[in-house]
Amino acid sequence: MSPEPQAGLSQEEAMDIEEKIESSDSDFEYDLKAPELFNQTDLNDFIRDLGLSKSASEILASRLKERNLVTKETRISYYRTRERNHLKYFAEEDNFVFCKDIPGLMAAMRLKNYASNEWRLFIDSSKRSLKCVLLHNGNKLGSLPIAHSTKAKEEYTTIALILDKIKYEEHKWLICVDLKMVNFLLGQQGGYTKYPCFLCLWDSRAKSQHWTKRDWPPRVALVPGEKNVINPLLVSRNRIILPPLHIKLGLIKQFVKGLDKSGNCFLFLSKKFPKLSAEKIKAGIFDGPQIRSLIKDPNFTDTMTKIDKKAWNEFVWLVHNFLGNKKSMDFSHHVEELMCQFQKLGCNMSIKLHFLHNHLDYFPSNLGDLSEEQGERFHQDLRTMEERYQGHWNAHMMADYCWSIQNSPQPSASARKSTKRKRSAGVVKKTTKNDVISAAPTTPVAAPAQFGLPLRTHDSRP
Ligand SMILES: [Zn+2]
Repeated sequence: MSPEPQAGLSQEEAMDIEEKIESSDSDFEYDLKAPELFNQTDLNDFIRDLGLSKSASEILASRLKERNLVTKETRISYYRTRERNHLKYFAEEDNFVFCKDIPGLMAAMRLKNYASNEWRLFIDSSKRSLKCVLLHNGNKLGSLPIAHSTKAKEEYTTIALILDKIKYEEHKWLICVDLKMVNFLLGQQGGYTKYPCFLCLWDSRAKSQHWTKRDWPPRVALVPGEKNVINPLLVSRNRIILPPLHIKLGLIKQFVKGLDKSGNCFLFLSKKFPKLSAEKIKAGIFDGPQIRSLIKDPNFTDTMTKIDKKAWNEFVWLVHNFLGNKKSMDFSHHVEELMCQFQKLGCNMSIKLHFLHNHLDYFPSNLGDLSEEQGERFHQDLRTMEERYQGHWNAHMMADYCWSIQNSPQPSASARKSTKRKRSAGVVKKTTKNDVISAAPTTPVAAPAQFGLPLRTHDSRP
């Protein structure tokens, strides 16, 4: 029987798992030895692996207890308040639920030796909610949500308030956010402004000079009232990382806008993504997974004209060798080539292209370590969290979420076995460390955990 492909697994991996399950079923012989009982740590690990809610974990624990499958000391009632040890690190004020003691929470989650320079702050803001998440530099550890609001307005004063709540000034993390959030953080005016660059006085309206002029006057300081700066800055400018994912999204947007709308290449996009609206396609609005799918599709390049193809190939090169996990030596030559091809295609210079065109030296050398692919993946995790808690975010929920992603103090015998099983099944690719936060729960569509930690799925019940 051919197995159903599972989320995040290749057909081969799914077959491998299926074979193992089938062989373990058929080889099973009833063993008269006494069963190995679950102690509290084993059961916690099991529940975290299954991503069970508080009520579901209580049900599972009590069923196991009815069959005498837990040790005498294992408490079923523990799950009703399983978040209690983390609760003291969270507070609810001014429409926010947030972590008020980050080093304390990290220690409670058994993350030893917290150092703020090992983490970067990711702020995600939409009409529905505002979230602050710490992402690990190098992406070896999972991500930690530290603030959430479904009521706060998306505006300067809100961002100022939340930075104060999470004590940004004490930690001074690097910040990886989209350009809309950069505007809030640096007090810049939003929307289509004349001077949108926080590094120089690039004139977004002087289109005739965009592809030729390089020596725009540097922005010495961001002064409220001058050159589209309207508020005092909230963080130091050098804490901002230019977000590679957003640069990538900005590039494909200009590429698609530059395509001939009646040409095969453009028409291919609507066939490839039938669920995307014509407006979105026309505006070149694609997400990371859609870009990856286009890059992999050989039929896409077949539809291109010579000019389209040259521009596309440079884009793909940059995605793989500059904006992704590695930064090749000769990237500056390829950036130049991309600019040249995009210009030939008739693309406009956007602020994101401008960063590549004029501020290449501003991109950190360890761009891959700071890539927000993890942030992108975290969007999926956040969706799971939001579904699970149905928008009822409070300190208990945040503390419970932290409980669900932490690891147990010491892997028990069965946890070790369970990790081994997964590793042999090809799900866990790297060694799981004792003192790390596990990967956040993922939705069924999520890619395999990118930082080598167990892939967990959570149910959607609160
Ligand atoms: Zn600039």
